[in-house]
Amino acid sequence: MKLAEGIRKHGFRKWYERELLQSHAHMVLTFLCIIGIFAAFEAASQFHTLQDKFVNILTVLLCTGVGIWALRRYLRLLANAEAVAHQADCPSCKAYGRLELVQVQTQDDGDLVQVRCRKCGHGWHISA
Ligand SMILES: [Zn+2]
Repeated sequence: MKLAEGIRKHGFRKWYERELLQSHAHMVLTFLCIIGIFAAFEAASQFHTLQDKFVNILTVLLCTGVGIWALRRYLRLLANAEAVAHQADCPSCKAYGRLELVQVQTQDDGDLVQVRCRKCGHGWHISA
């Protein structure tokens, strides 16, 4: 979910929590794919027919592809969430994550979100 949409719907803290949960769910999927690859390698010696070997190779390829996709998604979601979280401190009163959305400016390299502190009213930008 995009930052501006997330802040608007759920607030910053819930958006951040959801991004972390989503990224770590992808990490779990990566781990399951690694287990699937090792299980397929372990089972390779048990298969004797060509069809079984083909299904085993297909399983390895599928687990590898899904695992690489999930790992990349995990790292991207986590890096984005952390980059935004480092900008969530109010420059004026240092309150963390207590912000509300003011305006969104769409740029070529991502959104620039203007926010306002709920505690002191100071405004600043967060680049997503
Ligand atoms: Zn503030």
